[in-house]
Amino acid sequence: MIAQRIDEIKNTLPEGVSLIAVSKYHPDELIMEAYEAGQRLFGENKVQEMTGKYERLPKDIKWHFIGHLQTNKVKYIAPYVAMIHSIDSYRLLCEVNRQAARCNRVVDCLLQLHVAQEETKFGLLPNECRELLENEPWHTLEHVRLCGIMGMASNTDNTAQVQAEFASLHAFFSEIKSAHFSNAPHFKEISMGMSHDYKLAVEQGSTLVRIGSSIFGERQYI
Ligand SMILES: *Cc1c(COP(=O)(O)O)cnc(C)c1O
Repeated sequence: MIAQRIDEIKNTLPEGVSLIAVSKYHPDELIMEAYEAGQRLFGENKVQEMTGKYERLPKDIKWHFIGHLQTNKVKYIAPYVAMIHSIDSYRLLCEVNRQAARCNRVVDCLLQLHVAQEETKFGLLPNECRELLENEPWHTLEHVRLCGIMGMASNTDNTAQVQAEFASLHAFFSEIKSAHFSNAPHFKEISMGMSHDYKLAVEQGSTLVRIGSSIFGERQYI
């Protein structure tokens, strides 16, 4: 069943858009079902849960960290994480750089932007992100690689609003790409779109969709 859902989603994605299967709160067995179907990118939002899964599951899985990340926990994921989507401060980026250096890695990171109308969403405001890129010596950090941005739209049925928020993420991506990353071909990711809104996100230029419940079903929060 999971294989079929993954196939159905993948069939709707244009070339160049990758599917991250968000497996948070779901057991190893369901992840393995997706793995057997060929899925290799998985997303998690808790350090301890992701690290346990990394240790138990096949080593060719690429683990994407998509949740709020505390600086004191970076050290647990730095040895293996494929991409961190949730960089929301220069301090956090520095800590990822420090821990990645200790394991001789370069960790791919996305800047998390806050464009939704909700107070609860984490991320940098566009102006904070501009200031970070203009004023902080981020290009001296040799063990992190900024690959793009991540964002969430408001959780609303108002399609026009969701479209506008995704469009503003894309516009912001283009702005900072030309201002700071015009010579950086790896700066190409726009991580946006979840189960309920990924089609709108893809229409607005998403390159990474993060889909959980449409693949694995509802999460059991215990
Ligand atoms: C849980 C989560 C998702 C997936 O949400 P679904 O609605 O289950 O598809 C995507 N992105 C982030 C940041 C999440 O925390």
